[in-house]
Amino acid sequence: MFDGLVAVVTGGGSGIGRACVEALVADGARVGVFDLDPGAPDDPRVHGVRADVADRASLIAGMESVAEAFGGVDILINNAGISAVGTVEDNDDAEWARVLDVNVTGVTRTTAAALPYLRRSEAAAIVNVSSIAAGAGLPKRALYSASKGAVHALTLAMAADLVGEGIRVNCVAPGTVDTPWVARLLAKADDPQAEKRRLAARQPTGRLVTAQEVAAAVLYLASPAAGAVTGMSLAVDGGMSGLRLPARG
Ligand code: NAD
Repeated sequence: MFDGLVAVVTGGGSGIGRACVEALVADGARVGVFDLDPGAPDDPRVHGVRADVADRASLIAGMESVAEAFGGVDILINNAGISAVGTVEDNDDAEWARVLDVNVTGVTRTTAAALPYLRRSEAAAIVNVSSIAAGAGLPKRALYSASKGAVHALTLAMAADLVGEGIRVNCVAPGTVDTPWVARLLAKADDPQAEKRRLAARQPTGRLVTAQEVAAAVLYLASPAAGAVTGMSLAVDGGMSGLRLPARG
């Protein structure tokens, strides 16, 4: 599906991003992995770039090096993001600035760095990774939800700005996904196993989403098969946002 195409995945060193990199390569793409720690990929189809979505210069240099290695950039997956826990009283101004800088401005910086290359592509697509927190009120996620709501709004605005140039922009909105991120959150809980069961039960499918399931949705939106899809959000959340089931028991 991606033969001859080049993708850049931010946050491609772990979790959902890594699953996207693996799925894209398996489907024929060559991939630039932008991460604070991109690892040392031992595959000529993968080009690791130490890049920080909070640092514009690293993104511009990273896009240049991917284009030099693979001949261009067709697809951008804006996946890098960081967590924030708490109500509006729990995070100070510096933390608000830090998280919004990575989760929101990180998307705009990376996209601006990629656009000169995407404009030369016949199959240009951007997929942003939002969250169920953009559309559902979750407790103690004020800052994180604000950041992901902004990613959803940005997806629509970017799609409107770029549709005339043939560049599609969509997002995915995952529920709770079994990644190192969630493992870190669980490790802080009083009873990690009970907390994991609680998170799984919150999703109507009764389990956490897998990173591969999110990657499959990202790949669809990034692929030429979704050529008529732009400005959309695709929930990958085990039914959490859409279903209203009777209480169990
Ligand atoms: P993860 O922590 O496993 O991976 C995130 C990756 O992003 C890491 O490799 C990290 O080094 C990289 N990263 C962090 N800050 C960066 C920066 N400034 N510049 C470049 N790279 C950076 O997390 P994950 O669970 O795979 O999450 C990926 C995305 O999915 C995030 O945007 C997150 O908000 C979103 N998401 C996750 C879940 C979930 O339950 N795991 C649910 C909804 C949305």
